Amino acid sequence: MTPTSQRRVSIFGATGSIGQSTIDLIARDLAAYDVVALTGGHNVALLARDAIRLNADIAITAHEEHLPALRDRLSGSGIEAAAGEAAIEEAATRPADWVMSAIVGAAGLLPGLRALEARATLALANKESLVTAGPLIMATAKAHHARILPVDSEHSAVFQGLAGENLAAVERVIITASGGAFRDWPLEKLAHATLAQASAHPNWDMGQRITIDSASMFNKALEVIETKEYFGFRADQIEVVVHPQSLVHALVGFNDGALMAHLGAPDMRHAIGYALHWPDRRTLPVDRLDLAQIATLEFRAPDEQRYPALRLAREVMAAGGLCGAIFNAAKEEALDSFIAGRIGFMDMADVVEQVLTRLDADVTLMQGAMTLDNVRAADQMGRITAQQVIGSYPAV
Ligand code: NAD
Ligand code: MG
Repeated sequence: MTPTSQRRVSIFGATGSIGQSTIDLIARDLAAYDVVALTGGHNVALLARDAIRLNADIAITAHEEHLPALRDRLSGSGIEAAAGEAAIEEAATRPADWVMSAIVGAAGLLPGLRALEARATLALANKESLVTAGPLIMATAKAHHARILPVDSEHSAVFQGLAGENLAAVERVIITASGGAFRDWPLEKLAHATLAQASAHPNWDMGQRITIDSASMFNKALEVIETKEYFGFRADQIEVVVHPQSLVHALVGFNDGALMAHLGAPDMRHAIGYALHWPDRRTLPVDRLDLAQIATLEFRAPDEQRYPALRLAREVMAAGGLCGAIFNAAKEEALDSFIAGRIGFMDMADVVEQVLTRLDADVTLMQGAMTLDNVRAADQMGRITAQQVIGSYPAV
């Protein structure tokens, strides 16, 4: 029997970068947790190993073809094995106190919604949930009296900066951007940046997709929209500043001129641990900063020519509605095509911009109500249109 003091936790995207950092924290104090579900993708060896190590009730791979291998690895453990999107959705309906949403991409939206409907506290790393369906996910949390805690480092920093404050006294929020792999490259070289170069982040160790999105600033574009949707600030209150060291994660500016900054080592276990233990603070295994050794913190304005994604994010916020779902879907398709070597690095922003321009006139699509079905339809349209645009590019 499970002692009542144990917290029931599930981790969606357990085999990824955020998932593994979450497991690292939970595994340090296993007796405190009753692990319900772990989900992963192709890496069933890692998924099975962690499911056994954490004694989960169920392990699910996103891919049906991996189910036999997962079953094999779990045989004799008593842990249930399952596969596919419906199985992931079902697992999200299982009662849990705390659910980590760390699947990458639009696929993370549905399990997050189901977890909120089951009244779990949702630790939200999957920023795409807020970009594609911000009003829907926030309304779902409200309707079911469930809480969403931000896990993206900038948003965790803002959340912490707002603790005990009156939201009406907030003038602005500044989120920092490392500038990614190419912040110091000459502009004309960017078009020829390779996949390997875009996949190496100077400060953070993350999944490949978010690392490339950091180099293009699409990650920051998603985060600006995420800030608007989660905290409810106006678009013009949200600023981005390039801060190469990634030690200041965000700042909150108040109407008396005070700027409250959040500093810490670039280690996601801080934001994950904060969400795991909130409203308490607990000791976390992250490096402590030696300010005298750091000596200087640098900040600079983002160059819009270098980072067209930031301008696109402003347009998406101005349009509102389902535009975020289209934007994210087009970005995911463009990213896939860059990873596949089909388009160049700077083409990604161009593809997304062309998709937004083409679909802007589709009033029925753009003005549709914020429902899951409409979000999925907008996502599909964004992907199909992106493929059409990508198809018009010369082969590289
Ligand atoms: P990752 O690529 O390392 O891991 C992604 C996880 O999602 C894996 O478990 C993978 O198996 C699973 N997955 C991928 N596609 C799936 C699908 N279609 N259906 C079901 N599962 C699928 O990614 P990550 O870097 O850990 O990022 C996860 C999320 O957290 C992203 O939304 C990212 O933007 C966000 N985030 C990550 C970081 C970071 O430091 N890595 C920081 C802030 C926010
Ligand atoms: Mg972030």
